[in-house]
Amino acid sequence: MIIGIDLGTTNSLAAYYTEHGPEIIPNRLGERLTPSVVSIDENDQVYVGKTALERMAVYPDQTANLFKRSMGSRKEFKLGNKIFTATDLSAMVLRSLKEDAEVYLGEEVTEAVISVPAYFNEVKRKAVKQAGELAGLKVERIISEPTAAAIAYGLYQKNDNTRFLVFDLGGGTFDVSILELFDDILEVRAVAGDNYLGGEDFTNLIVEEFYKEHGLTEESLSLKEKSYYRNQAEKSKCNATGDGFYRMQASVNGEKVETLIPRGAFEKMSSQLLDRIKTPVRKSLSDAGVKAREIDEVVLVGGTTKMPLVRKFVGKLFGRVPDTSINPDEAVALGAAIQAAMKERKEPVKEVILTDVCPFTLGTEVSVKTENDHLEGNHFCPIIERNTVIPASRTQHFFTVYDHQTQVEIHILQGESRFASNNVSLGTLKLTVPDNEAGKEQIDITYTYDINALLEVEAKIVSTGETVTRLIKNQENSMTEEEMKARMRELSYLKIPPREQEKNKVLLLRGERLYEETTGELREQLEMVTQQFERILDRQDPLKIEEARKDYEEALDWIEEEMWI
Ligand code: AMP
Repeated sequence: MIIGIDLGTTNSLAAYYTEHGPEIIPNRLGERLTPSVVSIDENDQVYVGKTALERMAVYPDQTANLFKRSMGSRKEFKLGNKIFTATDLSAMVLRSLKEDAEVYLGEEVTEAVISVPAYFNEVKRKAVKQAGELAGLKVERIISEPTAAAIAYGLYQKNDNTRFLVFDLGGGTFDVSILELFDDILEVRAVAGDNYLGGEDFTNLIVEEFYKEHGLTEESLSLKEKSYYRNQAEKSKCNATGDGFYRMQASVNGEKVETLIPRGAFEKMSSQLLDRIKTPVRKSLSDAGVKAREIDEVVLVGGTTKMPLVRKFVGKLFGRVPDTSINPDEAVALGAAIQAAMKERKEPVKEVILTDVCPFTLGTEVSVKTENDHLEGNHFCPIIERNTVIPASRTQHFFTVYDHQTQVEIHILQGESRFASNNVSLGTLKLTVPDNEAGKEQIDITYTYDINALLEVEAKIVSTGETVTRLIKNQENSMTEEEMKARMRELSYLKIPPREQEKNKVLLLRGERLYEETTGELREQLEMVTQQFERILDRQDPLKIEEARKDYEEALDWIEEEMWI
């Protein structure tokens, strides 16, 4: 069975294709979303999802989140005394989703279509693939999130020339994509985005306001306290209604306090974030050469598009009500599941061909002549422009710049800046050219970028016909087959706790967190109900445990309510 997986910054989820269409696979707790959080205890037990999220409040130094942002980078995450990469941590999330799917579907899951933000470069895409492989999943297809969302909304069943704009505002990333259907080909016309804009930024606004009002500063708080305040702010953000207040409640030095932000004030505070949203929207429209009114449908994806503020803003921007008929948290996973079904050729899914675009400009470094005839290096010369439909191949002609120049170094770059040093270096290619006068030796450079995001650079010395090529595979951080196997062995010391105890574990962790947050009588009551629950757990009678779990959960709900009265 091939499943579809949305590996999100904040939450991840899996879906599969049924005769009634795609459906979400609930996790071991019976929930549809699995927080993309990993926590490892001192006994090397790995917790993923809600259990890890609960542990984050009490054991922040053993827990990691938001690691998707660092996919493909060298960033190290320290959990307890162990070091992990974002790929390792993502693999743990994927493995958890795979196991949940296998139990739910009653069959082995060996393959997955995994989605990535359209803006992920090749290094990051490869890291996602490797995470899948570390989790024991074959990942033949990486699908871009907006394409998956558009598929979930049935773009592939629409009339020719239908244009969709997918507006995807998640926890940590923002992507806008314009897609068009033509002759059964689903073409991504343009993508644009901001890798550092999302729901977390709105949560930050609330936290900052709370800190300001209650005289707190980031520097004076421990990791644990910061994580607690963030959680409270997150709750207030998600619970705010269209016309209500943002109400953040939390305790400061043992005292219960709250910050109330009226909707209008929050809108004002958000104005800079909303402005930042406009830039990629404009860029994608102009790159696709379409006007806002020529878009047939606007689709909202990503948890943050649930914010009434964001919906209103998008409505204004496009002068129409956006389509939200599918839960914005689920559209990408559902689309990935449809894509998985297309791959398995399951009827009645009509096969559509997906094309992709190169999400960034690829080019090389050149020297240019200044007014006073000086050569100035560090200039960027684009060869394949961003949003070119891939596969693509482009050639440009270059010439030697000074007399007797026999060495040419082609610096392969990716990015949008005019200056080479501001762009990402992908590698170099060195050539020896015949000794000649400046400008007499021509070098033709061809960049070929394929659907798997592999870049081939070919340089041809025209006078001799000699060519040199370099394939830019996913450079520095990419692991070889052997390295991957070695990493799998290295990670095998990690233990996975028994699934059936997960619900109890989540509740006990919640109890532990509330214990830290309460004082006095409530704390005593909490201790009592926790001990009661632990005693029943010790007796190992499944029916009794089930009953006691319900009682314990009710008691925790009550205590959490009481904390605010
Ligand atoms: P995603 O990356 O798509 O999973 O989106 C996660 C983001 O959506 C987080 O920043 C959440 O705080 C935010 N989010 C989820 N549900 C809501 C809600 N009901 N209201 C506001 N924001 C939400």
